[in-house]
Amino acid sequence: MKTLLHVCCAPCSIMCIETLKNKGHEVSAFWYNINIHPFTEYKARRDAMKAYAESIGLPLIVDDNYGLREFVVNVADNIMARCVFCYRSRLERTAREAKEKGFDAFTTSLLVSPYQNREAIIKIGREVGEKYGVEFLPEDFRPFFHEGQDRAKELDIYMQKYCGCIFSEEERFSNRRKKELKRMAAAQREAEQKQ
Ligand code: SF4
Repeated sequence: MKTLLHVCCAPCSIMCIETLKNKGHEVSAFWYNINIHPFTEYKARRDAMKAYAESIGLPLIVDDNYGLREFVVNVADNIMARCVFCYRSRLERTAREAKEKGFDAFTTSLLVSPYQNREAIIKIGREVGEKYGVEFLPEDFRPFFHEGQDRAKELDIYMQKYCGCIFSEEERFSNRRKKELKRMAAAQREAEQKQ
């Protein structure tokens, strides 16, 4: 099966790529992350992904869109529910790319992280997969999260210190994260009920 893996960063991609390959997938990676700010951070993550893909001979498609304005405009009305837009923007762009380039399926390295909202990612992935006529694979890469992080450290790959958006960068410097996540989950549920 030809599978397009959306990659949020090199460290998270390592075990997703290996898991898919071990299952017999013909894997290509796709970089599209309008959520990563500021530009220096975006560039560091993008370049680390490019270098890692090259080092393992992995085909990597790059949509090099630094989307600060697009991201902020779309989440400004409800910053606490921003992850829904964040997931949808990246998964929808990946589904479209998969369809246009003739892939059989797509998935995302976001599914390796125990810190992301897996249910929301799968729901949105299925929706955009249906929209574009490409299968979304709801893989559970989470058991490999720590192994992937360790491998990235061994390989001296750039490791980010916050999720990606400018708001998560702010949270890095506070101890509000757990409370924020609870509020964000509630706000996301509320936003989804209004859809
Ligand atoms: S916290 Fe992470 S998942 Fe949520 S909007 Fe920011 S970058 Fe996206």
